[in-house]
Amino acid sequence: MPTTTDVFDKARTHERVLQLRAAREIDAVPYFRRLESPAAPVVEMEGGRRIMLGSNNYLGLTGDQRVIDAAHEAIDRYGTGVTGSRLLNGTLDLHLELERELAEWFGTEDALVYTTGHQANLGAIGTILGPGDTVIVDSGDHASILDGVLLSRAKMRAFRHNRLDLLEKRLQQAEQDGGGILVVVDGVFSMEGDVAPLPQIADLAERYGARLMVDEAHGLGVLGARGAGASELLDVEERVDLRMATFSKSLASCGGVIAGPADVIDFLRIQSRPFLFTASGVPAAVGSALAAVRICRSEEGRALLARMQENAAYLNAGLRSLGLHVVDPVALPDGSRVATPIVPVLVADDWKAALLWKALYEHGVYVNVALHPAVPPGGALLRTSVMATHDTATLDEAIAAFAAVKRDFEAEHGPLPSPVD
Ligand code: PMP
Repeated sequence: MPTTTDVFDKARTHERVLQLRAAREIDAVPYFRRLESPAAPVVEMEGGRRIMLGSNNYLGLTGDQRVIDAAHEAIDRYGTGVTGSRLLNGTLDLHLELERELAEWFGTEDALVYTTGHQANLGAIGTILGPGDTVIVDSGDHASILDGVLLSRAKMRAFRHNRLDLLEKRLQQAEQDGGGILVVVDGVFSMEGDVAPLPQIADLAERYGARLMVDEAHGLGVLGARGAGASELLDVEERVDLRMATFSKSLASCGGVIAGPADVIDFLRIQSRPFLFTASGVPAAVGSALAAVRICRSEEGRALLARMQENAAYLNAGLRSLGLHVVDPVALPDGSRVATPIVPVLVADDWKAALLWKALYEHGVYVNVALHPAVPPGGALLRTSVMATHDTATLDEAIAAFAAVKRDFEAEHGPLPSPVD
């Protein structure tokens, strides 16, 4: 007689749930905190003023009056929701305009707008690949890429973060397996803020007859002379087969896009379940993303990008001067390093990361905490990120808070990881 179990058991015994409860006891849960104001450089959170070093609003456009006006105008014209799928009644002229603008920016034949970036990865990877194909991913790739792989039922082969020798091994194995091969990497890795060595990855993909897809979520608007992301910065736009991006970072909105050849985009348009079986992006989201894209593509976009990079370099140097282990962006094979908006501080230990988060929060600074599986085991990070709209005085205040927190924390718990460890 088979014994059945309660499917809810895991909810009571899961390690993460137990950790959440322990942290809740001492009010040290770094997640689900309540924001009471816009995602500006300084915010109101849970009744207090906090410096926001945990937003992906890299260019500060969520507060730009033209982007806000575009959202209002879209609501005035189309109402609050589309109440339907893109396939049926949910395609507005705004969606099509945004697709045209994004395809032009990426320099691709076509582009398809999804309701979120997560769905864009799910939809592209889950539809293009099937059983019998292989997808090769970097171990640092975003969860939505891995979810797309699950949906596709293709064979997944992962290689250690940015290790080209291991990528080549995976390609050799995939070649033995037969079937199609897709390599998918983040252009900028979301937690550590480093950039994939795309020219070398493109060389390898070409050598083994694989297609290459790059997730530009954290690169769009902040890298490259046209702000078109890591592929542009590294001059491989022509060699990347599919580009994915989200509107939830520099584009100050919510939604996602896949850009590529017209035939592949048409295939997704008609076959991609996360595109077809959900309501399309609401007017305010699409209208504001379109306004943000236009700013990013203008001269002003270049100035915002430069300002963001200055801020990232300033925060990086300030935290480093305190003896904190600021994770260095991995140098590209040509030796250069790229400033992205993400400035991660290595803590290593999960519990210490939560305690540090709490101390910073109490000192009026909000940062994100990244724990395994978002980072490798033992690689807990305080993930700080800057916006173009932070000013130097605010960053100085945040660095001073880090200094005070570090001093008190080390007096009680011993030294934090340092760059020489
Ligand atoms: N890819 C990457 C690299 C991301 O960081 C994210 C979001 N954090 C996504 C995809 C998903 O995008 P969205 O938030 O629009 O669902």
